[in-house]
Amino acid sequence: MSFDYYLSLLNNEPKELQSLANEKARNLYGQTITYSRNFFVPITHQCRNRCGYCSFVSDDVKSWITPDSFQSLLKKAKSEKCSEILLTLGEKPEEKYETAREFLRRYSCNSTVDYVKMFCELALDENLLPHSNPGVITFEELKNLKDSNASLGLMLESSSTRLLDKDEAHYLSPTKDPKLRLEVIENAGRLRIPFTSGLLIGIGETKEERIESLLYLQNINKKYRHIQEIIIQNFNPQKGTPMQDYPPPEEEDVLLTIALSRMIMGSNVNIQAPPNLNRDRIITLLDYGANDLGGISSATIDYINPNMTWQEESNLGKNLESEGFFLKQRLPVYPPYEKYLNKKIRKIIEDKYRNEEIISPKNR
Ligand code: SF4
Repeated sequence: MSFDYYLSLLNNEPKELQSLANEKARNLYGQTITYSRNFFVPITHQCRNRCGYCSFVSDDVKSWITPDSFQSLLKKAKSEKCSEILLTLGEKPEEKYETAREFLRRYSCNSTVDYVKMFCELALDENLLPHSNPGVITFEELKNLKDSNASLGLMLESSSTRLLDKDEAHYLSPTKDPKLRLEVIENAGRLRIPFTSGLLIGIGETKEERIESLLYLQNINKKYRHIQEIIIQNFNPQKGTPMQDYPPPEEEDVLLTIALSRMIMGSNVNIQAPPNLNRDRIITLLDYGANDLGGISSATIDYINPNMTWQEESNLGKNLESEGFFLKQRLPVYPPYEKYLNKKIRKIIEDKYRNEEIISPKNR
């Protein structure tokens, strides 16, 4: 289907769009809604970029997590029965800060990617499955991380180059250039890496640009079929950022973007909406075509949106059940993509998670 078809559906037939998306989601997934029990680790808050909405970024070298403190976080993650270690970090801080370069040298790492890889291996040694978000990195760096991650992620956020203009959200973030990000997503496809991407909506993009962003992602996915999930993340204004007074997106925009993503992305792609950013409308999100709630952590906060707490898993499960849905735990790699992983990670999945029935037998 063409751009014009989706735009006309969005503008003229929003109810039809919702109903088609809901039907497609339920045909693909029934009433099952998945989530991953994760443990959020903010490796470093230093970053070479400075996005207008980001409260995560900091100049402080003390924001790095050391290998010793990481080991105690792994213990905590195990005691909380998490399966995913979510490694989130500022992008290539060594390109901006001498303090970051010095810090990395102390651990004999040439780059942040090397440092992340070291952490991923420590997590795998504890049978925990890493999912890293290292930002815009090269083909070789992706290759380097592939063997120590169950999946990797990079949000496209938006295909709009306007957002790089003065006073726009990405003005001080040159690697938010969509061309660079699409190249990383395509390289991940060439390397057969189970991949997560998505849109950040409400940062100044238009609805046409949202459709365009999804079409770019689906074009890449058609070639490589490695995009396992698309997150539709709504902008959440944070105090102390340049965009603190910027309004969050309208509910209708959030819901219809979920419906569009369900319609545009192929049937192999899960559509995810973060429950902590959508507390009062989770069931509505599902009725617009979402089938996954992403990472939920009982032990850590959402460091990107620290003002948005997660609901207890058991409460969430009960709420869904009362509306006819069923909440099911998954891993940071969805079953159809496990074939892309190396033997070591596949063995952890079989022995630790499938045989112990933490997740169900291989199915969708
Ligand atoms: S959103 Fe990401 S890339 Fe942008 S400043 Fe924050 S950490 Fe850096």
